[in-house]
Amino acid sequence: MDSEMDGAERYDYDLIVIGGGSGGMACAKESAMQGAKVALFDFVKPSTQGTKWGLGGTCVNVGCVPKKLMHYGALLGGKLHHDAAKYGWQVGKDVKHDWATLVQTVQNHVKSLNFSYRSGLRVANVTYINALAKFTSPHHITYTLKGKEPTTVSGHYFLIATGGRPQIPPESEVPGALELSITSDDIFSLKRPPGKTLVVGASYIALECAGFLTELGFPVTVAVRSILLRGFDRQCSEKVGEMMFNLGTRFKMQVTPKRMSKTPDGQVEVAFSNGDVEAFDTVLYATGRHADTKGLGLDKAGLKTAANGKFECVHEQTNVPHIFAVGDVLFGKPELTPVAIQAGEILARRLFAQSEARMDYENVPTTIFTPFEYGCVGISEEIAIERYGENDIETYLFEFMPLELAAAHREKHPQACTSEMDVDLPPPCLAKLVCVSSLGERVMGFHYVGQNAGEMTQGFALAVRLGAKKHDFDTLVGIHPTDAESFTAMTVTRGSGESWVATGGCGGGKCG
Ligand code: FAD
Ligand code: NDP
Repeated sequence: MDSEMDGAERYDYDLIVIGGGSGGMACAKESAMQGAKVALFDFVKPSTQGTKWGLGGTCVNVGCVPKKLMHYGALLGGKLHHDAAKYGWQVGKDVKHDWATLVQTVQNHVKSLNFSYRSGLRVANVTYINALAKFTSPHHITYTLKGKEPTTVSGHYFLIATGGRPQIPPESEVPGALELSITSDDIFSLKRPPGKTLVVGASYIALECAGFLTELGFPVTVAVRSILLRGFDRQCSEKVGEMMFNLGTRFKMQVTPKRMSKTPDGQVEVAFSNGDVEAFDTVLYATGRHADTKGLGLDKAGLKTAANGKFECVHEQTNVPHIFAVGDVLFGKPELTPVAIQAGEILARRLFAQSEARMDYENVPTTIFTPFEYGCVGISEEIAIERYGENDIETYLFEFMPLELAAAHREKHPQACTSEMDVDLPPPCLAKLVCVSSLGERVMGFHYVGQNAGEMTQGFALAVRLGAKKHDFDTLVGIHPTDAESFTAMTVTRGSGESWVATGGCGGGKCG
């Protein structure tokens, strides 16, 4: 990318990376592999409740990894309580969950990952500095190690990969919230069981945390300011909410907390915008994250950000040509670990291996790990209609009960039953293909709510990226009996007026 590589000799490092999370680590290691002299800074500022963690950034410590482990632990509960006895396991009614053991297992694994990241940097020959870094000029940063004088180092290129942190409304907006609430930075290492929990927010983090806490057996209420999962396919988002409700999560719709105070017995009393007042053992805020770029000395480097603190980059390049950014600090890009990693690695090859490859931010698959997961790639039905017009969109739908749950007669949470007859869990799986007719029914949106949606969506995302059409899905032979095979035999369109809910059958497939 820069032909003046020999200019780098004037600097201490060819590349200085600020932030040792998904994007920063990936770029640092790949750059070093390409022969660059690299330093990586990582430092964790404690959460509002004082929680700290090790090397590896959000995903490893307080994001994807502990979340997925708690999700798995929670799903075991659903299977133990509901299905195991039907499949012959003599588990009894008094199966109990121990929060402390779950946290211990999760944290032990996170610590082993911290260790492997540290040795990964050493093996790759990246200099790791455990300190907060801050620009003092466009080519210099300063840092202070504990008990030492400030040190300044220089770099030819810089990468900002400082990620984001959760936000809690200030005292002026919701009195008591900042002091009395926790966030995703705290939940995965919480010493005490969360107990009766209020989750504020209605997107990825809120619903994932509410989902695993519900399945672990805690009474959970979600306060939803507007709608669930803004920006996602509406039908699928509502399906996620419906299934969470059926598993026992309570929702307070169009409601926000107004005030919080501590009760004499240590609970948090919350006054809501609709006039309700209720006490909870734990309040978890999941109302979005802000880019962690404030303390970076941006003005000293001449860096500009958008109002939300993110960098408006062209191919990861900021307004200062030798300073780049990847991951959650990028404006208008998905905040996902594989996106940060891939952008970091591609950038490293552009900087140090004469590559011209660029990160493709289109058709990025994602999954929300709620008890019945929601995986998707491409666009929602709403966006498709907006972009191509209603008459040009054909939406194929299929709703069904997975074979294993059908055999076990999975029931709803008692809270969701309206009568003694109304106990069966409705079909939790929704398969959906959004196709554009004038493009030969090219699949522009793949959506799936159900078990293991994350695993299922990854492979289908390749098909969507390669431009697959509905016909390609139809000629694909299914793997029987699976939920994924539902996508090989979808015949009901929204426009047909027929029901897309299966009345029997073998989960996602047909048994002859
Ligand atoms: P981060 O991983 O956040 O790393 C930034 C690092 O920089 C941090 O260690 C920070 O302490 C450090 N830092 C900040 N400022 C400085 C400084 N001045 N000097 C030195 N170091 C500094 N994504 C998925 O793809 N799948 C998931 O299932 C998923 N689940 C998630 C669940 C939760 C609860 C959360 C919060 C996020 C989840 N994400 C998930 C998103 C994913 O974690 C982020 O997109 C990803 O971590 C972003 O990587 P990054 O490199 O931009 O920053
Ligand atoms: P989001 O920014 O996606 O969502 C914020 C949520 O909080 C919305 O529901 C929003 O409601 C609500 N909200 C915002 N402000 C308030 C307020 N003052 N009071 C009440 N509600 C409010 O944030 P998340 O924290 O859920 O996730 C951040 C990012 O992390 C995601 O975009 C995702 O990329 C990544 N992530 C990925 C995961 C995965 O891959 N599985 C899992 C978790 C996180 P409204 O719609 O009304 O604005």
